[in-house]
Amino acid sequence: NASRLVGKTVLVTGASAGIGAATAILFAKGGSNVILCARRVDALTKVAEVCAAAHKESGLKQGGKFATVQLDVADKAQVASLFDKIPQDLQDVDILVNNAGFVYGVDRVGDIATSDYEAMFATNVFGLIAMTQLLVKRFKAKKSGHVINLGSVAGARREAYVGGSIYCATKHAVRAFTNSLMKEIVDTPIRVTEIQPGMVETEFSVVRFRGDKTAADKVYEGLQPLTAEDIAEEIVWAAARPPHVNLAEVFVLPVNQA
Ligand code: NDP
Repeated sequence: NASRLVGKTVLVTGASAGIGAATAILFAKGGSNVILCARRVDALTKVAEVCAAAHKESGLKQGGKFATVQLDVADKAQVASLFDKIPQDLQDVDILVNNAGFVYGVDRVGDIATSDYEAMFATNVFGLIAMTQLLVKRFKAKKSGHVINLGSVAGARREAYVGGSIYCATKHAVRAFTNSLMKEIVDTPIRVTEIQPGMVETEFSVVRFRGDKTAADKVYEGLQPLTAEDIAEEIVWAAARPPHVNLAEVFVLPVNQA
């Protein structure tokens, strides 16, 4: 029941594009307040404008507060001081969507630049951990909250692929971290969900091939990839379950990806 999200405050990392942007917009449509975080401020501002329009169109009176915060989740100091930049009326966050993440390159193990593997871990793993620590502390104090982590099918053993060692390792880490967190806070009302998408066509698809769109498009030959909106729907659905229901894992694939 989407009405459970009315008036809630949601913090989305990586909200400037792709799945994060679509998620922010869908929560806005459902009457939630949204804090949009990412590194690109201009892109964030544009998404926040779409959020405001979507909320207006919904006709809902509750929600409709949006803030954009420049945040590099890989920067520990920025994460630590994040709440200094969040407006006072949005400080009481109910849902964290740990979405910021990327894959850069399809290099084999011997060829991966140290800076590339460090950057992927810094964002996909350490950034996600830092954000989770920050919010879980608050969720424990208020005795409610929901952490929604973006894993991937790349976090499952059978989905390891040539050239994907680091990205897969980061998503395995997200999976292990999420599972442990779930057990650690089992005695609290805090919920923890991991969304594990298959192929989704976003900027991510092209970043993976360092901007080579032809190589990126080849991956989707013979199948219709998911859209960012498809994943946003799963995220919002998980968040809208009754408080006693924890949708622990959502594994979602395009119909022709097995
Ligand atoms: P996009 O490339 O479209 O968007 C990634 C978002 O993350 C952008 O808003 C980017 O914003 C942000 N971001 C990247 N690094 C950082 C950082 N260090 N700090 C803050 N924000 C950051 O990717 P998707 O929407 O496709 O991916 C979103 C999530 O879904 C990722 O975790 C990805 O691993 C996962 N996923 C994606 C799949 C796919 O096929 N697309 C499949 C499975 C999982 P900015 O550059 O402005 O900071």
